[in-house]
Amino acid sequence: MKTFTKILALAVLAGATSILFVGCASDGHDHSGHSHGAAAKPYPLNTCLVTGEAFEHGKPYTFIHDGQEIKLCCKDCLADFNKEPAKYLSKLNAPK
Ligand SMILES: [Zn+2]
Repeated sequence: MKTFTKILALAVLAGATSILFVGCASDGHDHSGHSHGAAAKPYPLNTCLVTGEAFEHGKPYTFIHDGQEIKLCCKDCLADFNKEPAKYLSKLNAPK
């Protein structure tokens, strides 16, 4: 009987976890901290966010960071960006 109670508790726990997961897919919580593939804020610059240089061959390395589109001149800059994302993101928000 004790074992049955344990299994029941685990089942309830697993059920609660899946409900949380489903909840994430629906509206009703703040999505600003993570992206669900929705439209990101467009990258406002024409230069690499890390080096500030023009994109080589006109083909920037593009990705989405926290709902903000980021463009870098090459994939190597991604390593630098990931070291200090806040520092580079502040460049985007700095007044012109
Ligand atoms: Zn680069």
